[in-house]
Amino acid sequence: MKYREPSLTPYRFVGNICAKHPELEGLRLKSNRNCIGCSKERWRVWWEKNKDYDRKNKALNARKWRERNPGKNAENIRKWAEKNPGAVLENARQNKRAIRRQAIAKLFKKELVSFYDGRPEGCHVDHIVPLQGKKVCGLHVPWNLQYLSAKENREKGASFEVS
Ligand SMILES: [Zn+2]
Repeated sequence: MKYREPSLTPYRFVGNICAKHPELEGLRLKSNRNCIGCSKERWRVWWEKNKDYDRKNKALNARKWRERNPGKNAENIRKWAEKNPGAVLENARQNKRAIRRQAIAKLFKKELVSFYDGRPEGCHVDHIVPLQGKKVCGLHVPWNLQYLSAKENREKGASFEVS
């Protein structure tokens, strides 16, 4: 492990200097008052011991499920997607980088999905304030959405006037 300059975050405090990690100058976790260095070491040991077990188990369980349900996984996904077009669109949107950074978008997922589901024939869902505007960036939240016709949407582009 590379040595990194110890730094204070809201989760750390400076307490008694650990005998094993004097270079950390007493940096400890607020949650359990343990030395940062010792915590990292314990975590590394646990990970070494468990990573294989965990990975193997997951892979094994997934394979067993596929064997019991041949062809079902893909079929289920397809069926679900057919029934939930709004959710499919919203999932794709939540995966976009600009939106992934917005934790708030997840809070309103239900409302967002129903907004997409409720859009009139031939209309696009538009962000009133664009997500990546030149001067301001809008949020992916229900109150920043509107329905636009395809033509209106093209004309608007990603512009937003800031006065
Ligand atoms: Zn320590």
